[in-house]
Amino acid sequence: MLLLLLAGCSGQHEDVHETRFMMGTLVEFTVSDCDKQEAQKAIARASRAMARIEQRFTIYGDGDNAVKRFNRTPVGTAVTLPKDVAQLLMLARKVQRASDGAFDPALGALNRLWGFSREPAPTRPPAKAQIRAAKHAPGCLIHTRKGQWLRRSDNCQLDFGGIAKGYALDRGIAALKRAGIRNAIINAGGDMRIIGSHHGKPWRIGIRHPRKSGQVLGYLALNGPMSIVTSGDYERFFIYQGRRYHHILDPASGMPAHKAQSATVLHPSASVADAWSTALFVLGPKGLARLQQLRMPALVVDTQGALHMNAAMRALFHPMR
Ligand code: ADP
Ligand code: MG
Repeated sequence: MLLLLLAGCSGQHEDVHETRFMMGTLVEFTVSDCDKQEAQKAIARASRAMARIEQRFTIYGDGDNAVKRFNRTPVGTAVTLPKDVAQLLMLARKVQRASDGAFDPALGALNRLWGFSREPAPTRPPAKAQIRAAKHAPGCLIHTRKGQWLRRSDNCQLDFGGIAKGYALDRGIAALKRAGIRNAIINAGGDMRIIGSHHGKPWRIGIRHPRKSGQVLGYLALNGPMSIVTSGDYERFFIYQGRRYHHILDPASGMPAHKAQSATVLHPSASVADAWSTALFVLGPKGLARLQQLRMPALVVDTQGALHMNAAMRALFHPMR
């Protein structure tokens, strides 16, 4: 009986940790209350699932995928997108509408122009005329009655960079669950999804300080399923003539958004939390009311470094003293 309990994912086991480099960041897997070999097998499956998502949605690198093909289709040609791409795009558009356009999945041309995902990283902003040319008109992406998609202009380019990491986390956790794991965290460079608990206690999640590396603003004690996703101006940026330029763009101006240093959103789905953390970063503290209406706990560190949170987050947040 005891032996049966010790094998598999029940009973007392030490946490199993594994780290992989994916999606341009370190992805850490923690599996709790599970035999080491089982846990490692499950983690291998989850990381394969996540790597597939990356390949499927990225607009960078050499490989081809449906997103890149769509971005190459002639303007005005309606195409059918694969089901998973269309579904994530519908979710992205829902967040786009609910955030008054702060989240925009068709910013590909502008993102590419700024070049934060390029190697080597950029060191100065593009010219104003280039930014104007890369900006697309609102509503450039059309969903037809038949469920097909078309682009109205050439700079209307899909970019799932603000949501795909969350989607990969969702698929990674789904793979762990299919392998029998009940208690785990997948942490992709500070964006995480948790399931279950940690030896019967809530998982303790630190929220990073946007300016003091290695320090946290506070922490949350959470049971899964839940995702905690942060967008920050400290992840990919350069300083030019004393100003900070970073990778989260305000679709209205075509420039890096300037109302926050970081924005954190909680939702069971990591895809939803990821899209909203990007949107909230663009909206700044004013966006917190919208997330309260949607019952999502959220916080923003404004450009002065002041911490703002909505009521849902206040109920969960333990400040660091
Ligand atoms: P990170 O990827 O660093 O965790 P985000 O989730 O906020 O941060 O995503 C930033 C990425 O999202 C950018 O690299 C770009 O691809 C894309 N992006 C930038 N601005 C926007 C925006 N306003 N709406 C949607 N996607 C955006
Ligand atoms: Mg995001």
